Amino acid sequence: MGAFSERIAIVTGASRGIGRAIALELGKRGATVIVNYNASPDAANEVVQMIQAGGTQAMAFKADVSTEEGANELIKAAVDTYGKLDILVNNAGTTRDNVIMMMKAEDFDTVIQTNLRSTWLCSKAAVRTMMRKRYGRIVNVSSISGVMGNAGQTNYSASKAGMIGFTKALAREVASRGITVNAVAPGFVLTDLTKDLPAEITEQLNKNIPLGRWGTVDDVAQATAFLASDDAAYITGHVLVVDGGLAM
Ligand code: NAP
Repeated sequence: MGAFSERIAIVTGASRGIGRAIALELGKRGATVIVNYNASPDAANEVVQMIQAGGTQAMAFKADVSTEEGANELIKAAVDTYGKLDILVNNAGTTRDNVIMMMKAEDFDTVIQTNLRSTWLCSKAAVRTMMRKRYGRIVNVSSISGVMGNAGQTNYSASKAGMIGFTKALAREVASRGITVNAVAPGFVLTDLTKDLPAEITEQLNKNIPLGRWGTVDDVAQATAFLASDDAAYITGHVLVVDGGLAM
């Protein structure tokens, strides 16, 4: 049995990319994993099957976590099915990149709602049940764009910086209840979200990354699993940058 064998975990947006890798890693370490998805049921079911093949429990759950109803139903599913929730990873996210002059207000709203509002909604629902158990681990997947800012991403950078402020505020609020709240801030990681970046931008980025490569989904999953573990019991309100040295 892994170190997480008694743990019940939710990973939002776990059908693809970084969330998928986090769900697989938590499952590998023995956690029971609720694989949240919105639009990709087949991909989510594949993640569930892979976790189950490793000998731990998992279930897929469809919910649009940017809505209050979706977030509440997701947390309720964990508590109704498994009796508690120990770990919440707020990973679901999206982009609508453009320079500010060209960016539509709806692109701002969509990104804030999907990335930041979902984090607030899911955490609010999760904290209620975690407080009763006096145990919880919340890990928010922010971004280096929220730390440094990124041209063409005023909406996304604002949402990810918002997640960092949220992480620190909630960490202070719930520390006395045995709940830690931390963030990971990945640099550039090849997923569906980043696969269409022009080659010249990719090459330029590589020159600026001291470790000389993009991150992998597993680089982020390892950092997230650490913050979700009992080994990180004395760490809260922290932003763990996983960026190959880009932002230092
Ligand atoms: P991705 O490959 O596009 O995957 C996004 C995931 O989010 C999918 O599983 C998608 O599920 C889910 N999702 C989107 N909207 C949702 C909603 N309303 N409700 C529930 N699930 C939703 O993106 P990624 O690169 O893995 O990014 C994951 C997180 O890492 C994001 O928060 C992103 O901002 C952050 N991040 C990524 C990078 C990078 O370089 N890739 C860097 C820093 C931070 P469905 O397909 O089922 O809708």
